[in-house]
Amino acid sequence: MNTDLLRPTSITRRDFVKISGAALAILGLSQALKPRVVKALETSAGKTAVIWLEGQDCAGCTESFLNSLEPSAASILLDTISLRYHETAMAASGYQAEQALEDTINEGGYLLVIEGSIPMAEDGLYCTIGGKPFKDIVKECARNAAAIVPVGACATYGGIPRSGPTQAVGYLYDGTRKHGYFDDVTGNKPVINLPTCPLHPERLVAVIVHYLTFSSIPPLDNFNRPIAFYGKLQHDNCERRGHFDAGRFMADWGDSSQKDWCLYLKGCRGPWAHQDCWSRLWNGRTNYCIRANAPCVACSEPEFYEAFSPLYKRQFDVNFPGVGRISIDKIMATVAGVAAAGVGGSIILDKVIERKEAKESKKEDK
Ligand code: SF4
Repeated sequence: MNTDLLRPTSITRRDFVKISGAALAILGLSQALKPRVVKALETSAGKTAVIWLEGQDCAGCTESFLNSLEPSAASILLDTISLRYHETAMAASGYQAEQALEDTINEGGYLLVIEGSIPMAEDGLYCTIGGKPFKDIVKECARNAAAIVPVGACATYGGIPRSGPTQAVGYLYDGTRKHGYFDDVTGNKPVINLPTCPLHPERLVAVIVHYLTFSSIPPLDNFNRPIAFYGKLQHDNCERRGHFDAGRFMADWGDSSQKDWCLYLKGCRGPWAHQDCWSRLWNGRTNYCIRANAPCVACSEPEFYEAFSPLYKRQFDVNFPGVGRISIDKIMATVAGVAAAGVGGSIILDKVIERKEAKESKKEDK
């Protein structure tokens, strides 16, 4: 039975060459590998099965992926892989959809993409699909998977739902950085975490192409994130970093002279965020949070969202679950590597706050 849920379209060799070039660039690999990637894509076209599950989620990662432009999600989903099950994108429903899922699990060797967290409270009853708790569905699908790819902050580390009443978990339980639920169900299978809220489509495309070409996964960091995308710190590569070092912090959104200044006082968590949004950009390489004047919320990190909450609020101490509160000065010196400038920066920071507080108290006196 052909269980493809999305009808294949025709793809030319030129399209494969285009996808290959883009994927190599995304992964930071040499374009000299292009012939190998093209061959792998041509050979595997429509053969690599993918199951995409959605648990406690908002479907934002799906939206993000379906809206990708270069290479387009359509060219990946329709022509390169065989998407067997995806609740939002598939046309099938009910028995037909469940049958496709069961057949694919029995065949084995598929990529399992997981979107959304896994609620554990009340034995998983906060999220059931076809009468089954999501936690059991994950376990069942992980059984015969070749590799597991949790996408988005929720599936990787629990994300925003982890702060709610459903005891939601991701690949890692919580900010203590201990391995969590997936460890019980994945055994020794490779797990490639692609956090951020939502998923960046290029990162998933590149992982799929890498897998199809080399039958392996790209090098990962301690939190199972591909180093190619999560190996660098936002703060070290930020276009506003010069303002941070010079002590120019945006304090008033309404003051146009401050419009490009560092967003640290507005709650920026860039000093904690390992990602490449600053170079990859979003929405077809149009823009990203900091360039659009929104502080980075570090959605690439296991501590998101709990330890960084409330977002958009300056934090001087950060509460790391299981570790306790750590002073911002210590973190800035360690994480941001501003040992020398950090001392000055901290004094400047105090002065800015002092001035701002004096201004606010003056306003109150009036
Ligand atoms: Fe950029 Fe945020 Fe660092 Fe400021 S604190 S330099 S806005 S990453």
